[in-house]
Amino acid sequence: MRLLPSTRSFASSRIYDVVVVGGGNAGLCAAIMARQSGATVLLLEQAARDLRGGNSRHARNLRVAHRMPGRYMHGLYLPNEYWEDLIRVTAGQTNASLARSMIDQSAHVMPWMAQCGARFQSLRSGARRPSRKTVFLLGGGKALLNAYYLTAERLGIDILYETEVVSFHFDGGIARGVTALTGGAAATIHAKAFVVTSGGIQSDIDWLKRYWGDAADGFLIRGTAYAKGQILKDLLDQGAAPVGNPAQWHIVAVDARAPKFDGGIVSRIDCLPLGIVVDRNGRRFHDEGANIGPERYAIWGNLVAQCPSQIAYAIFDSKIDGLSRPSLYPPIRAPTIAELAAKLALNPSSVMATVDAFNAAVQNTLHGKSVSPGHTEYIAPLKSRWALPIDTPPFDCFPLRPGVTFNYLGVKVDQNAHVLMTNGRESPNTFAAGSIMAANVLGRGYLAGIGIAIGTVFGRIAGREAAYYANSGSHKDRAPRH
Ligand SMILES: Cc1cc2nc3c(=O)[nH]c(=O)nc-3n(C[C@H](O)[C@H](O)[C@H](O)COP(=O)(O)OP(=O)(O)OC[C@H]3O[C@@H](n4cnc5c(N)ncnc54)[C@H](O)[C@@H]3O)c2cc1C
Repeated sequence: MRLLPSTRSFASSRIYDVVVVGGGNAGLCAAIMARQSGATVLLLEQAARDLRGGNSRHARNLRVAHRMPGRYMHGLYLPNEYWEDLIRVTAGQTNASLARSMIDQSAHVMPWMAQCGARFQSLRSGARRPSRKTVFLLGGGKALLNAYYLTAERLGIDILYETEVVSFHFDGGIARGVTALTGGAAATIHAKAFVVTSGGIQSDIDWLKRYWGDAADGFLIRGTAYAKGQILKDLLDQGAAPVGNPAQWHIVAVDARAPKFDGGIVSRIDCLPLGIVVDRNGRRFHDEGANIGPERYAIWGNLVAQCPSQIAYAIFDSKIDGLSRPSLYPPIRAPTIAELAAKLALNPSSVMATVDAFNAAVQNTLHGKSVSPGHTEYIAPLKSRWALPIDTPPFDCFPLRPGVTFNYLGVKVDQNAHVLMTNGRESPNTFAAGSIMAANVLGRGYLAGIGIAIGTVFGRIAGREAAYYANSGSHKDRAPRH
């Protein structure tokens, strides 16, 4: 990184072509693209250097359309199938032209990413099950971000860490500058064009409380603590058009022992369909066999969010050992259900009564001499699949809490990633990419790998368009390139 002079003098002495707010995947794609398009670029990142990269650090794959099998993905994933998947998970809550364009462009991002230092997991490595729809990042999001930062530094992009942008200055819809808190003081930073990539709003617990009340105190945030949405709120207050449902959150069930922030993907609990889940009162509250696909994560996240004290307990016996992905934290283990309940500070008689009733209700399927999981009868809620009696010690438990991934509020953008205002006009020199505008494409639900895909495609567009605006001073008479 180039060392910058003291922030206040630096801020007042230089006008960059493009200022990028936020240094996650979308911000780095925008900054690098703007620089490659000939602009001088300053990137402002709220976190310190060792915590840079926002939620992007936690990602492991991205979803890209492709027309032939290759080194990193097998089979085909044509744009139409990607589109159908998107329509299914969003139930149609997507901007069709933005989504289609994002999908088409996802097919072309990998060579550029590789040129900027990204590396992908080869199918031949055997490190994971082959995927047809997503490509896995070698070293995960952290390695991706480190490579991008290195590229940015090599290209001469200036980077200011521990710099929190708090507001935009607009003049007739044109952004003239931002106020940032940096080095213990407020500074105004001017530029010809701005790209906003400051991520989501999910780490602002007070904001969460608007929708969840005090229950939000019991939530864990799976990603960065810096996703407080200051700039999203500021842009909306200043007339940017909102998109997405502010009351919708992507929440999954995570291990309750995970940290408040940044627990990442490893704290997610995979094995819920294999056991039973009880609440603080020792009672089951949902059919654990109902959801066995990837949608189960979000379903359980929302269910646990509605439990008393926002906590639940997944209980298993030793029959399921080795059947599911290992978890980050070891299970809490005991030789009897009563002792397990006591360790969890639950009422032993309630948990024992629940387990006994469950065991009595299990109808297993006999295959010759072996018994395979069946379903329950005569209890509520039923367990429709994977029901096996919980009777073989030792007994294990994973305590669960809701883990928030992101929420679905953002700013509206057009094909060129311009921020659109409520008056129907665009801000000609303000662009947005990544989580802050993802709800244009993903209005609800989730598709694995789409977060990084949206950030990469729109980050590149925003960087290129911001550079173009800065270099030409205008975007008029320009046909969209997509
Ligand atoms: C645990 C977890 C696993 C995930 N796994 C995947 C996956 O495998 N594949 C996938 O596609 N998606 C995944 N996602 C979603 C994905 O991480 C996001 O969609 C994506 O990272 C968003 O990128 P972004 O650049 O918009 O935001 P971020 O990466 O969050 O970056 C925003 C940046 O802005 C900075 N910032 C915030 N406010 C300010 C401010 N006021 N001033 C200056 N800087 C600011 C933050 O510090 C941060 O560095 C995962 C998310 C989580 C939490």
